[in-house]
Amino acid sequence: MLICSLIMKSSKEAVQTAAKEFLQFVNRGVSPYHVVEECKSRLLKAGFTELKEAEHWDIQPSNKYFVTRNYSSVIAFAVGGLYKPGNGFSMVGAHTDSPCLRVKPRSKKTRMGCLQVGVECYGGGIWNTWFDRDLTIAGRVMVKSGGKLTHHLVHVPRPLLRIPHLAIHLQRDINDSFGPNKENHLVPLLATAIQEELETGCCSTGDACNAVTTAEKHHPALIRMLCGELGVEPDAVLDFELCLADTQPGAIGGVYEEFIFSPRLDNLHSCYCALTALIETGTPESLAKDPNIRMVALYDNEEVGSESAQGAQSNLTELILRRLADTSGNLTAFQQAAALSYMISADMAHAMHPNYQEKHDENHRPAFHKGPVIKFNSNQRYATTAVTASILREIAGKVGVPLQDVMVRNDSPCGTTIGPILSSRLGIPVLDLGAPQLAMHSIREMCCTTGVLQTTTLLKAFFELYPSVRSQVFVD
Ligand code: ZN
Repeated sequence: MLICSLIMKSSKEAVQTAAKEFLQFVNRGVSPYHVVEECKSRLLKAGFTELKEAEHWDIQPSNKYFVTRNYSSVIAFAVGGLYKPGNGFSMVGAHTDSPCLRVKPRSKKTRMGCLQVGVECYGGGIWNTWFDRDLTIAGRVMVKSGGKLTHHLVHVPRPLLRIPHLAIHLQRDINDSFGPNKENHLVPLLATAIQEELETGCCSTGDACNAVTTAEKHHPALIRMLCGELGVEPDAVLDFELCLADTQPGAIGGVYEEFIFSPRLDNLHSCYCALTALIETGTPESLAKDPNIRMVALYDNEEVGSESAQGAQSNLTELILRRLADTSGNLTAFQQAAALSYMISADMAHAMHPNYQEKHDENHRPAFHKGPVIKFNSNQRYATTAVTASILREIAGKVGVPLQDVMVRNDSPCGTTIGPILSSRLGIPVLDLGAPQLAMHSIREMCCTTGVLQTTTLLKAFFELYPSVRSQVFVD
């Protein structure tokens, strides 16, 4: 009864609108580069100014800015009208990357008359879900034109590649256990040699062992297709980073249209809610009374440990926070700011799976529709403390968003997030939070429609209410 009334606080129409808007975001975010591209266009539309790390910044209260690194991480911030150096940062962090297969630098493979593409496993995907899906490629290509090297995003919307299952007749135990050999069995088919000969009059054979040029390292059909998309000649392509992606767009599902079936929920759901909260609270009226800087930091490479120039382990966040805090020449401004700051590490949480109840602690079973989940782990796989949890509970209570708690069983492995990394690197209190989902790291995951609106509402309230709630905290 209580839960129903909490859900009903938002009309079904508002829930569906938020979920559909999220689907547009996730369907465009086919690679980390496309996620940053989509964030950038939304930020520019909302009046944010793009800054470059290599340039001087002139930051003004009540103004909004963003900066990208490697075009796969983005940090956006809105400066409160009352902001002074040494004041706090109200931050939400999430990640732009998802587990996927990526085209190898020398991808050309030919087996038994089939033109195939060598791929690398990125992150901890459930790789058997990549079988029998209509796959395409998306990412960035470095192109040389007029003496300049430029990066171009590419996303081919039609199905190009397929990793077919072996028929059950040839492996009768497939339903007992199925784990592919990641090198031998995860090799997508691009074409047959016969069809290529019919189409082009010659056919690509062999592998890329002795290839020298970029065009020779991959099947010509792949390069031709990329060049066709980009409108450039094959010898202009210097290098690329290409993800494989499912062509099936995310969709609303369930008999009552209460689910989202989609790729990359982990973690574009959190990216979307954080970005939307920052944009929607970025009005002059909302910013005027804020003493803090509101910030959304979306990092690449979380799925592989965050250790990269654009990952959460990098100096990116500290450099930017220092740059914003230290403008006054006050050498302790950053340290003062850190103590007044707070970060929500937003990353998806595991909802209780009805078919695997024994995998969840009986008292910590997050369910769909019952609100975003606070993640606890005293072993610091999550960074939540009693203080950070109390602050968020206060904020959530003010806007009627229900919260759930999760902790894994003692005999279960536990995931982790950028939360502990940033908390330890920056000395900023962090809370780990995520909307509940199922099938995490499958090519097609599942969550509930209410999660989008609940999470966005909570993060908006966090940006607007954190400074005043923080001022009531007497623990240091
Ligand atoms: Zn994640």
